[in-house]
Amino acid sequence: MKGESASIRLRAEDEETMSEEIEERETWPAVWKGWRRRCPNCGSGPMMSGYLKVRDTCPVCREELHHHRADDGPAYVTILLVGHLMAILMHVTFVIYRPEPLTMATVFTVGCVGLSLYLLPRLKGAIVAFQWARGMHGFELSSQMTKGQNADNGQQTSG
Ligand SMILES: [Zn+2]
Repeated sequence: MKGESASIRLRAEDEETMSEEIEERETWPAVWKGWRRRCPNCGSGPMMSGYLKVRDTCPVCREELHHHRADDGPAYVTILLVGHLMAILMHVTFVIYRPEPLTMATVFTVGCVGLSLYLLPRLKGAIVAFQWARGMHGFELSSQMTKGQNADNGQQTSG
Protein backbone atom coordinates (compact mmCIF):
# COMPACT_ATOMS: atom_id res chain seq x y z
CA MET A 1 0.00 0.00 0.00
CA LYS A 2 2.86 2.34 0.83
CA GLY A 3 4.49 1.74 -2.53
CA GLU A 4 1.18 2.41 -4.25
CA SER A 5 0.66 5.76 -2.52
CA ALA A 6 4.24 6.72 -3.35
CA SER A 7 3.64 5.99 -7.02
CA ILE A 8 0.42 8.01 -6.91
CA ARG A 9 2.35 10.92 -5.41
CA LEU A 10 4.95 10.51 -8.15
CA ARG A 11 2.20 10.63 -10.78
CA ALA A 12 0.74 13.73 -9.14
CA GLU A 13 4.12 15.42 -9.47
CA ASP A 14 4.36 14.30 -13.09
CA GLU A 15 0.90 15.73 -13.61
CA GLU A 16 2.05 19.13 -12.44
CA THR A 17 5.19 19.17 -14.58
CA MET A 18 3.48 17.83 -17.70
CA SER A 19 0.20 19.71 -17.46
CA GLU A 20 1.39 22.45 -19.79
CA GLU A 21 2.25 19.97 -22.55
CA ILE A 22 -1.12 18.23 -22.65
CA GLU A 23 -3.09 18.87 -25.80
CA GLU A 24 -6.57 20.32 -25.57
CA ARG A 25 -9.29 17.76 -26.16
CA GLU A 26 -12.15 19.44 -27.95
CA THR A 27 -15.42 18.69 -26.20
CA TRP A 28 -18.13 18.77 -28.86
CA PRO A 29 -16.35 16.80 -31.61
CA ALA A 30 -15.63 14.16 -28.95
CA VAL A 31 -19.26 14.16 -27.78
CA TRP A 32 -20.42 13.73 -31.39
CA LYS A 33 -18.06 10.73 -31.78
CA GLY A 34 -19.44 9.34 -28.53
CA TRP A 35 -23.01 9.83 -29.71
CA ARG A 36 -22.11 7.66 -32.72
CA ARG A 37 -20.78 5.10 -30.16
CA ARG A 38 -17.25 5.57 -31.47
CA CYS A 39 -14.04 6.11 -29.54
CA PRO A 40 -13.82 9.82 -28.59
CA ASN A 41 -10.11 9.87 -29.49
CA CYS A 42 -9.94 8.38 -32.99
CA GLY A 43 -13.63 8.32 -33.93
CA SER A 44 -13.34 4.96 -35.72
CA GLY A 45 -13.01 2.29 -33.03
CA PRO A 46 -16.30 1.09 -31.49
CA MET A 47 -16.74 2.29 -27.91
CA MET A 48 -19.14 -0.45 -26.79
CA SER A 49 -18.58 -4.19 -26.79
CA GLY A 50 -22.29 -4.89 -26.30
CA TYR A 51 -25.42 -2.79 -26.07
CA LEU A 52 -24.08 -0.64 -23.21
CA LYS A 53 -20.76 -2.18 -22.10
CA VAL A 54 -17.90 0.26 -22.66
CA ARG A 55 -14.67 -1.36 -23.81
CA ASP A 56 -11.61 -1.07 -21.56
CA THR A 57 -9.53 0.28 -24.44
CA CYS A 58 -10.27 1.37 -27.99
CA PRO A 59 -9.52 -1.54 -30.39
CA VAL A 60 -8.12 0.89 -32.98
CA CYS A 61 -6.05 3.52 -31.12
CA ARG A 62 -5.69 1.76 -27.72
CA GLU A 63 -7.10 4.83 -25.91
CA GLU A 64 -8.14 3.86 -22.38
CA LEU A 65 -11.91 4.10 -21.97
CA HIS A 66 -12.34 2.26 -18.66
CA HIS A 67 -11.93 5.48 -16.67
CA HIS A 68 -15.50 6.56 -17.41
CA ARG A 69 -18.07 6.99 -14.65
CA ALA A 70 -21.27 7.32 -16.65
CA ASP A 71 -23.25 5.55 -13.89
CA ASP A 72 -26.93 6.58 -13.95
CA GLY A 73 -26.33 9.62 -16.15
CA PRO A 74 -27.43 8.12 -19.49
CA ALA A 75 -30.61 6.64 -17.96
CA TYR A 76 -31.40 9.95 -16.28
CA VAL A 77 -31.02 11.97 -19.49
CA THR A 78 -32.97 9.35 -21.48
CA ILE A 79 -35.91 9.52 -19.06
CA LEU A 80 -35.72 13.32 -19.04
CA LEU A 81 -35.89 13.56 -22.85
CA VAL A 82 -38.37 10.75 -23.54
CA GLY A 83 -40.64 11.77 -20.65
CA HIS A 84 -40.92 15.38 -21.72
CA LEU A 85 -41.30 14.55 -25.40
CA MET A 86 -43.96 11.92 -24.76
CA ALA A 87 -45.90 14.10 -22.34
CA ILE A 88 -46.26 16.81 -25.00
CA LEU A 89 -47.01 14.31 -27.77
CA MET A 90 -49.65 12.53 -25.66
CA HIS A 91 -51.34 15.80 -24.90
CA VAL A 92 -51.35 16.98 -28.52
CA THR A 93 -52.43 13.56 -29.85
CA PHE A 94 -55.30 13.26 -27.40
CA VAL A 95 -56.59 16.79 -27.96
CA ILE A 96 -56.38 16.71 -31.76
CA TYR A 97 -57.10 13.08 -32.70
CA ARG A 98 -58.97 11.56 -29.69
CA PRO A 99 -57.80 8.00 -30.51
CA GLU A 100 -59.17 4.85 -28.89
CA PRO A 101 -57.50 4.50 -25.44
CA LEU A 102 -56.10 1.07 -26.28
CA THR A 103 -54.70 2.32 -29.59
CA MET A 104 -53.10 5.32 -27.95
CA ALA A 105 -51.63 3.26 -25.10
CA THR A 106 -50.16 0.72 -27.53
CA VAL A 107 -48.64 3.31 -29.84
CA PHE A 108 -47.12 5.31 -26.98
CA THR A 109 -45.78 2.24 -25.20
CA VAL A 110 -43.99 1.06 -28.32
CA GLY A 111 -42.82 4.61 -29.01
CA CYS A 112 -41.46 5.13 -25.50
CA VAL A 113 -39.60 1.82 -25.42
CA GLY A 114 -38.22 2.23 -28.93
CA LEU A 115 -37.02 5.77 -28.39
CA SER A 116 -35.47 4.87 -25.02
CA LEU A 117 -33.61 1.91 -26.52
CA TYR A 118 -32.36 4.16 -29.32
CA LEU A 119 -31.24 7.02 -27.06
CA LEU A 120 -29.71 5.12 -24.12
CA PRO A 121 -26.47 3.79 -25.71
CA ARG A 122 -25.97 7.02 -27.71
CA LEU A 123 -26.35 9.21 -24.66
CA LYS A 124 -24.01 6.92 -22.75
CA GLY A 125 -21.42 7.27 -25.51
CA ALA A 126 -21.84 11.05 -25.43
CA ILE A 127 -21.44 11.20 -21.65
CA VAL A 128 -18.35 8.96 -21.69
CA ALA A 129 -16.87 11.12 -24.46
CA PHE A 130 -17.66 14.29 -22.49
CA GLN A 131 -15.83 12.88 -19.47
CA TRP A 132 -12.92 11.91 -21.72
CA ALA A 133 -12.71 15.37 -23.31
CA ARG A 134 -12.85 17.17 -19.97
CA GLY A 135 -10.27 14.86 -18.39
CA MET A 136 -12.65 13.74 -15.70
CA HIS A 137 -11.91 10.81 -13.38
CA GLY A 138 -8.88 8.88 -14.70
CA PHE A 139 -9.00 10.26 -18.25
CA GLU A 140 -6.58 13.11 -17.51
CA LEU A 141 -4.05 10.62 -16.20
CA SER A 142 -4.49 8.37 -19.24
CA SER A 143 -3.70 11.26 -21.59
CA GLN A 144 -0.35 11.69 -19.87
CA MET A 145 0.34 7.98 -19.99
CA THR A 146 -0.13 7.84 -23.73
CA LYS A 147 1.89 11.02 -24.14
CA GLY A 148 5.21 9.53 -23.09
CA GLN A 149 5.18 7.01 -20.30
CA ASN A 150 4.12 3.87 -22.12
CA ALA A 151 6.28 1.77 -19.82
CA ASP A 152 4.04 2.66 -16.91
CA ASN A 153 0.83 1.58 -18.64
CA GLY A 154 0.80 -1.94 -17.23
CA GLN A 155 0.44 -0.69 -13.68
CA GLN A 156 -2.87 1.09 -14.34
CA THR A 157 -5.69 -0.26 -12.24
CA SER A 158 -8.90 -0.95 -14.08
CA GLY A 159 -12.36 -0.10 -12.85
ZN1 LIG B 1 -9.80 5.04 -30.61
